[in-house]
Amino acid sequence: MSRNSVELKTNEQIILMREAGLATAAALSAVRKAIRPGISTLELDAIAEATIIAKGGHSNFKLVHGYAHTICSSVNDEVVHGIPSAARILKAGDIVSIDAGAEIGEWNGDSAMTVIVPNEDGTPVDSDIVRKRQILSDVTEQSLWVGIAALAKAEYLNEVGVAIEEYIYSQEINGAKYGILEEYVGHGIGRSMHEDPAVYNYAVREKGFKIKPGLCVAIEPMVVAGNQRTKVLKDGWTVSTKDGSDASHWEHSIAVHEKGIWVLTAVDGGAEKLAPFGIKPVPLS
Ligand code: MG
Ligand code: MG
Repeated sequence: MSRNSVELKTNEQIILMREAGLATAAALSAVRKAIRPGISTLELDAIAEATIIAKGGHSNFKLVHGYAHTICSSVNDEVVHGIPSAARILKAGDIVSIDAGAEIGEWNGDSAMTVIVPNEDGTPVDSDIVRKRQILSDVTEQSLWVGIAALAKAEYLNEVGVAIEEYIYSQEINGAKYGILEEYVGHGIGRSMHEDPAVYNYAVREKGFKIKPGLCVAIEPMVVAGNQRTKVLKDGWTVSTKDGSDASHWEHSIAVHEKGIWVLTAVDGGAEKLAPFGIKPVPLS
């Protein structure tokens, strides 16, 4: 990805992208409500697709060459790109990351969340392993908001990765550090789900793209409770940790415009999660 081909969006285009962002958010919200022990990841895929279609869009994951599903569902040591399957039945205490995207008209949304599968009655599983999984998800989600807050104040795009890395490496669990995946990164978003520029989740030497109004990006930290080395499974898609450690993935699509930032895939535009940083997102209308 080169920095020469970044397409800056007009306010009108960002408003159109918001529709795709909200359809993406609705799909993830419907999946979150459906997650329970005994459901298959293929059933979750159908729920996401029906939600996006009901919002007047279609799955942009299906536009990725060779991919036939609406979501990626990555369970436990799987980090990203897990393929939904009728055979993959969720169990109480599993940590599952769901990634989804909607395209409406010409414009795209892309967002991911991690959920810890509760007990049948909705209560959290009471075990050390599951508590650690919840903390891993919380730390990863917070690193996403640290990255979004950095974007709001940054002069150059790679300040986002510096902030995410600083936060993740300041956290530890039972004395052990978390790892950040480096082979997979965030990206620009607009007419395609994946556009320039690359958005790193870790510090790099270059300053990166000079931030300007109209920049729309997906920030998506992928964090593991162990070593960050990964392998791709035989299905050709699923990325899992080599050491079997658990993984989490959180993502939002964000627009930068003249008056501030707007988290397009958060229903409240990012207001609640950005408030502790002293940042107020500015919706366009
Ligand atoms: Mg995604
Ligand atoms: Mg993405």
